[in-house]
Amino acid sequence: MAITGKCLCGAVRFTIETDAPLGVRQCWCRVCQYLGAGSGTVNAVFPKEAVTATGPLVDYVSTADSGSIMHRRFCARCGTPMFSEAEPRPHQIIVRAGALDEPELAKPAAIIWIRSAPSWACFDPSLPTAEAQAPPPKS
Ligand SMILES: [Zn+2]
Ligand SMILES: [Zn+2]
Repeated sequence: MAITGKCLCGAVRFTIETDAPLGVRQCWCRVCQYLGAGSGTVNAVFPKEAVTATGPLVDYVSTADSGSIMHRRFCARCGTPMFSEAEPRPHQIIVRAGALDEPELAKPAAIIWIRSAPSWACFDPSLPTAEAQAPPPKS
C-alpha cells in the first residue's frame, strides 16, 4: 500500500511507495512556527526514492541553525508546506504531515526544539523531548 497526499488546493499530489515513515517528529523551531502558522510542525521522514510528486512546487532555500542548506517546497498556488530536504541528507525527504491523506500515519515519536516554543505550547507528556535539534532517523 502506498501513502498518498496533496496540498490544500490539490495542484500538488504525491505518492510514497512505502507503508510507514522512517520517523516522525514534532518540531517547535522558530522556522516551523512560521510554517505552522504559530504552532509546531509535524514532519514525517521518508526515503527520497520512495516519493513521487507532481504539480507546481516552489523551492525556498535557506541555511538552518545547524549550518545545513535546507530546501523547503510549497505549492505555488495555495502555499501549503509540502516537503523539506537537507542537503547533507540527500537520501531522505521530509513530508509535512498536514499534506498526508491519512494523518494518523504521522503520530510523532518525539518533540524537538522545545526551547523555542512559546509558553502556551502543549506537549504530549508521553513523548521524549529535545531542547534543540536531535539526530534524524537512520535509513
Ligand atoms: Zn496547492
Ligand atoms: Zn522546525
